[in-house]
Amino acid sequence: MAIKKMVTKSLSKSASKSANKPASKTSSIQIAPRKMVTKKVSKDEPAGLPLSVVIRRRIEAQKARFHANDNISAFIQADELESLIDEVAEKMQAVLESLVIDTRSDHNTQNTSQRVAKMFIKEVFNGRYVVQPTLTKFPNISRLNELMIIGPITVRSACSHHLCPIMGRVWIGVLPSKDSALIGLSKYSRLTEWVMCRPQIQEEAVVELADMLEKKIKPIGVAIVMDADHFCMQWRGVKDRDSKMVNSVMRGAFLKDSNLRREFLSLLEKR
Ligand SMILES: [Zn+2]
Repeated sequence: MAIKKMVTKSLSKSASKSANKPASKTSSIQIAPRKMVTKKVSKDEPAGLPLSVVIRRRIEAQKARFHANDNISAFIQADELESLIDEVAEKMQAVLESLVIDTRSDHNTQNTSQRVAKMFIKEVFNGRYVVQPTLTKFPNISRLNELMIIGPITVRSACSHHLCPIMGRVWIGVLPSKDSALIGLSKYSRLTEWVMCRPQIQEEAVVELADMLEKKIKPIGVAIVMDADHFCMQWRGVKDRDSKMVNSVMRGAFLKDSNLRREFLSLLEKR
């Protein structure tokens, strides 16, 4: 059943937009007392500073925000990521030492600091450090204005409170307008992955994804449902293996039209 009701676009702009905004308070620069990575700093930057401090200064100069769930790729050159991994690895090694782990004779932990640093920057938090995937947009030639549902998209993230994994699924509902730009189906997954690969809280992640899709597609409505296991409830804390968190964002037509919302949610239940 297609829903063709058009609703004017006076939409619900979420108040908690989490894009780069000036930080609300000045953050102090903490320089670890240990050996630091100083190599490969670009020529116009002051020498002798850890790369993270150099990057942080660039961000602060632009008064941009650099919370855990912000993308800071605009302030990092692609060839700096390897040096950033080295710096994180050195500090991760210090964490292992403070945990009193003998990484010299314990062969299992010998390269753990390097592995963890690489995993953070290249994999699980990569959505902070790389630019948004390019999205080819197609004009809506056949003037589709029927409900589309994409999902379930498997998502992996981490909570910004404990850096514990969040593993879940996301469904996206889009009601395009006749003038919407459409994006290929695989691009929904790539964009979702880019947003999720950052430390964050689930409520903010879905809002950020909805903001981004609204901006890109300019639909009449966007709906997102995320259903996830939070390892900070399972691995630690209450150790409740069955606890899940489900949350949703409804924008535009999905907010105003209860039939459309019901149709979207009922189609999810069938999956
Ligand atoms: Zn947590």
